[in-house]
Formats: sequence, C-alpha cells, structure tokens
Amino acid sequence: MQHPENDEKYSGLTVNSGVAQPPSVNPYLHKRPKRKPLPTASELVEGILKGDVTVLSRAVTLVESLNHDHQAVAQEVIEKCLPHSGNSRRIGITGVPGAGKSTSIDVFGLHVLRDGGKLAVLAIDPSSERTKGSILGDKTRMEKLAVHPDAFIRPSPSAGSLGGVARKTRETIVLCEAAGYDNIFVETVGVGQSETAVHSMVDFFLLIQLAGTGDELQGIKRGIMEMADGIVINKADGDNIDRARLAQAQFRSALHLFPPTASGWSPEVLTYSGYFELGIPEVWDMIDRYFDFVKSNGYFERRRREQSRYWMYETINEQLRSHFYNNPEVSRRLTAEEADVLANRRSSFVAAKDMLDFYFNKMNLNQND
Ligand code: GDP
Repeated sequence: MQHPENDEKYSGLTVNSGVAQPPSVNPYLHKRPKRKPLPTASELVEGILKGDVTVLSRAVTLVESLNHDHQAVAQEVIEKCLPHSGNSRRIGITGVPGAGKSTSIDVFGLHVLRDGGKLAVLAIDPSSERTKGSILGDKTRMEKLAVHPDAFIRPSPSAGSLGGVARKTRETIVLCEAAGYDNIFVETVGVGQSETAVHSMVDFFLLIQLAGTGDELQGIKRGIMEMADGIVINKADGDNIDRARLAQAQFRSALHLFPPTASGWSPEVLTYSGYFELGIPEVWDMIDRYFDFVKSNGYFERRRREQSRYWMYETINEQLRSHFYNNPEVSRRLTAEEADVLANRRSSFVAAKDMLDFYFNKMNLNQND
C-alpha cells in the first residue's frame, strides 16, 4: 500500500501559519483597578446614617463575610449603629414555598410604603441554594419592590448553620434601622427551625397559609401556629374564596384551643389575595392594631429585651461551637473518636468528655504561651 505522507512533496502535515492567537494571560491584568480598600468602620457608619444604600449593602456584605478582618470592621459598625437602631417595626413572614410569600411581600411592601418611610426585606433561609448570593433571584421575586427607591431587598445570607445565618440577619436589622428603614420584613420558608429564629428577632410574626383540601390544620406544625401573631389565608380569590373562608373558620377554632399568648394579644385569622390585591388593608390594619396593643401594655419593650438576651447567648453558643469545631486538631481527633463510638469501642459520654478535656487543655496551654 502506498503511503503518500512519505512522499517528500507531500504537504498534508506541514503546519499552516494560521491566525495569531491572543496571549493566554490578559496583558492588561496589572492595569485592572485594584480592589477597593476595606472602608473603615467610621466611613461605613457615616454612610449608613445618611441612608446611603451602597454603603449599607457594603456593610451587610462585611457582616456576612467569614473573613476575620471583615468581621472586625462589621462588629465595630454594628456597635456604632446600635444607638441609632430599634426604631422600626420588625415583622416576620413565613409560609411554605408556594404560599405566596413573594407575591404578598410585594403588595404588603407597597402598601406600607404608601404612608412614606422605608422598607427593608431580609430573609432567613439556611437550606436554600436559591438564595445563595442571588440578589437577582429575590429581586425578580418581588418585582415592584425591587424598583422602589425606598425598598432595600437583601437575600438570605448564604447557606450555613441556622444560628449563623440568623445572627447575620439579626445584625443586618441593626444596620438597616440605623439607615432609617422603619419597616423590616424578615421572610422565611415555613419548614423547619428557621421560624423560631425569625420569631426571636421580630415584633410580629405573620403566618401565610393556603386553603387546601379541608385538612388545613394537618401538616402545620403546632409550634409554628403557636408563634403566630396573625394567620392570613392567601389566594382567597375566584373559586377559592369559600375554601379560604372555611379554612379561616378552622384556624380560628383551632386557635381557641391554644393557651393565651404572652402578649395578651389574641392572634387573628384573615383571608386575602396577594395576587388580586384583595384584603390587604385589612391585614395591615390588624398589624397596626397589634403594635398599638403591645406598645401600650409594655410587651413590645419586654419582648425586645428578651430577644437581646437571647441573641447574646446565641452568639456565645455559636462562637464557642465554631471555635471548637474549626480547630484542626480537634477536628482530627473527633474523627477518630467518632469512629470509636460508632464501633461501640467507646461510650458517647466518655468520648465527649475526652474531646472537651483535650480542647480545654489545649486552650490553657495556648493561654500560657
Ligand atoms: P412563595 O414561594 O411563597 O414566595 O410564593 P409565590 O409568591 O412565588 O407564589 C406562588 C404561586 O402562587 C405563584 O404562581 C403566584 O402567582 C401564586 N399566587 C400568589 N398569591 C396568589 C393569590 O393571592 N391568588 C392566586 N390565585 N395565586 C397567587
């Protein structure tokens, strides 16, 4: 068989001159503007107090950051903002996915802003990948608020431990209040533990429900209902109105069985339609009445003080835990201890004591260094 490529005149394997390729490294790299230096706490506080949204966002990013330097600045900013905080109505909003939280927050938000003032919408969603840094995601969920000049929308701090995520949101509330936001909505998905976290940082807790198949009360955790200061049944429109009313009656009678609330307020149950904007003023009227009620009987202040205490302990617990688990030696040892416990070579309590002894000894040694 002939091999044409062996022929001297064969040109099939020669290299064509081709087209010049750009260098693989960007030659202008060194000309790229350097990252902005970390602003000082005073600069941030000044901007926040002026209500500068860009500065506020920057400060919130530092609050959310895991970087040590960022955290140091963030904590100083929070400290300096604290005296300017507290003057808002903090409202928690929960409901299962699909209950209509985004739709409702959009219309509730516009309703609130009609009277002037500013609104911040924050979220706690430790489970979700959706919110992981996706501001766009949340902005498109709340179309009208997203373009409103007096609304500040911030998605949940990205996934982490619930305690950590919630603490960041709680700290963000302080910054927003210092920036003049006098209504704060904290949204959470109505599944799991995040309601407790939200409940511990808001003045009013609103539970959004749907009328379903007549078994409304099934599947709703009693604890969540017990926390609610108001239950609102969404999508009371079209064919659904009767079912919504039925659900309303069922919720009302279920609430009668609950013990009286610490605030002395009797939680109300209303129906509305976020999509068709029906019954919105009534929902807001209820919330206004709640605030009047708890402000006049002293519960408002008491709850806020209790929440501050709660967050002090939460923060201590969380930081102790993360200091322990993030220690590389602890974590190595823990793997071995865990294997022993799983293999029944060691009791859980002995292993736990060992680990803690090891950790405390280590801390002492470090302190003596
Ligand atoms: P979220 O997951 O709780 O944030 O719920 P969404 O606000 O995204 O709403 C879920 C779906 O329910 C969307 O398709 C909405 O258009 C619809 N929806 C929300 N509110 C209403 C309402 O009041 N009436 C009706 N019929 N549909 C609604």
